[in-house]
Amino acid sequence: MSEACCGTCEVPLQTKSADRAESARGRAFWLVVLAGLLMALGAGAAQQNAHLLSIGCYAASIAISVPLPARRAWTSLRGRTLDINVLMLIAVAGAIALSDWLEAAAVVWLFGVAQWVEVLSLARARHAIRSLVTLAPAEATVRRDGIDRVVPAEQVVPGDIVILEPGERVPVDATVVDGESAVDQSPLTGESWPIDAQPGVDLLAGSVNGTGALELRATRAVADSALARITRMVEQAQRQRAPIQTLVDRFARRYTPAVVCLALLVAVVPPFFVATSGGWSGAFALWGYRALALLVVACPCALVISTPVSVVSALTAAARHGVLIKGGSHLERLASVTCVVFDKTGTLTDGRVNVTHVMAVDGASEDGLLTVAASLETRSEHPIGRAIVARARGEGLRFEPGSGFQALPGLGAEATVSAAAAVVGSHRLFHARDLCTPRLHQQIDHVEHGGATAVLVAHAGAALGVLGLTDRMRDGGRQAVSALRALGVTRLALLSGDRARNAEAASAGAGLDEAHGDLMPEEKVAHIARLREAYGPVAMIGDGINDAPALAAADVGIAMGVAGTDVALETADVALMTDDLSKLPYALRLAKATLRNIRFNVALALGLKVAFVILAAAGLATLWMAVLADTGASLLVTASSLRLLRLRTA
Ligand code: ADP
Ligand code: MG
Repeated sequence: MSEACCGTCEVPLQTKSADRAESARGRAFWLVVLAGLLMALGAGAAQQNAHLLSIGCYAASIAISVPLPARRAWTSLRGRTLDINVLMLIAVAGAIALSDWLEAAAVVWLFGVAQWVEVLSLARARHAIRSLVTLAPAEATVRRDGIDRVVPAEQVVPGDIVILEPGERVPVDATVVDGESAVDQSPLTGESWPIDAQPGVDLLAGSVNGTGALELRATRAVADSALARITRMVEQAQRQRAPIQTLVDRFARRYTPAVVCLALLVAVVPPFFVATSGGWSGAFALWGYRALALLVVACPCALVISTPVSVVSALTAAARHGVLIKGGSHLERLASVTCVVFDKTGTLTDGRVNVTHVMAVDGASEDGLLTVAASLETRSEHPIGRAIVARARGEGLRFEPGSGFQALPGLGAEATVSAAAAVVGSHRLFHARDLCTPRLHQQIDHVEHGGATAVLVAHAGAALGVLGLTDRMRDGGRQAVSALRALGVTRLALLSGDRARNAEAASAGAGLDEAHGDLMPEEKVAHIARLREAYGPVAMIGDGINDAPALAAADVGIAMGVAGTDVALETADVALMTDDLSKLPYALRLAKATLRNIRFNVALALGLKVAFVILAAAGLATLWMAVLADTGASLLVTASSLRLLRLRTA
């Protein structure tokens, strides 16, 4: 939060300090109630002409409300700035000097109410993140030496066998080793379909087990779980300031001193020029009061709170839908995007690649070809690598993981298999390595003719043959594309390392405007620069595997399906927890709605101010009306921001 604001808005996020913040909020609430009661009592006493009693009640009410703003005002003055707390104190002192006790009490009281609402609303916007933290259970049932024991979740180490009963929550990230069940990951990823849990499937801490009992092997400690990392990331994002927020703060910093000067002028100058009944003292009292009203009206509270509440609400809403946005600045840039670039494999198509052809050159066997390729790819994260490994397993082949695995982004991969160098990858790679033969070319032609992607395999310096792979278009691609167009995206492009023909087919299937294939990662970067030049701010969406340079080059880098992977979560500006393409238009819609919301809030806050400044100068505004207007503006702004929390996915 800014210095210009009350300074109460920094609601701590960690659970312990959050508890403390909660009790502080509770105390603040009761103080506000008590001060309000005393004020009402004072007004009642004044009605009965018990003046001394009424002043006593007002003074007590002020004494209860004033310490907090006074402390903050002091901090601000020591930092040589004038914030609203200072303005407020000047107004209260002035009202007391004019013997306007009710006004003085009302001003501090309403101010207290406004701050309380402000703190509460930010806390509420952040609440969804705290509920994420509490998703994972504190205890886990662990089987050690054949005995099941309940231990604190922090004591589970990778490799431990965890027993999960039906209906229980998964305590740590783990892989299923035995049993079958349906597991609901929706609290974490926003994904509505439960996943089929069976041996080999990875589960995330915090997801809910269905009706089957499961035996899991822990893969990560609690502190490293996807849930913990996501929570940390969202917390960091919430602390980051959007550029528009900085702008508002800078404005408020200049504006507050300007208002103090203006108020001084109003108090001092008119009495010399405007004739008033009651002589000099009457004139100073009248204009002094108007100056005070001006001061109070001019408090930029609603203005200063408008942006952070919107941004925090939006980030929280997004996180609830499985969209992690790493801060207000990314949100702002996302709202301005007019060009969206897709990666093909694993993004526009689903990650389930199929091996359709296995063609060995003369002298090599198909099983030998698959065995070498699968050994090499054991450590690969690429959908193609995983497909090859899955196929070899499916054929019942036995293979050891190769050593020294090295991904060649956009080209293929290499490793040492059975003490000899093995290479798997594109025609381009084999051409560069001088591994092509006429026989291989025939096989490539055959595979590509069938619409598949040709992946070549070599071992110990000689080509073994060609694999053909196909992938399916992801569901919902077309809908996502038309939703993006409806949101003002004017250009959609596909950039792929796969053959141009496959890239074009995928692009036509999804209804994109242009497609480019055979691209190396750095060529993707060049295309992004060109697209930005021609069509404006670019968002690039990839699966995060070997797309890092392109993700970084785009104005907004979006990685999808990151629930399990580490790299993508770190490199992207926006991360989609699931592979669901419909989250992309949602994120864009949310970003646009947030910016609209901020603009509306700022306009509302400024408009109300201007109206009241005029009223105050004309002598038509009383102090408490002025404070009420500010409180009202803060409330309106907050309420309109919290609406962002309810924006739906479709
Ligand atoms: P995309 O841009 O469509 O996601 P990539 O840049 O990831 O494609 O890969 C481009 C091409 O490089 C693939 O079509 C394939 O021929 C080859 N390739 C990349 N990684 C691998 C791998 N691990 N195993 C085999 N081939 C690979
Ligand atoms: Mg890819």
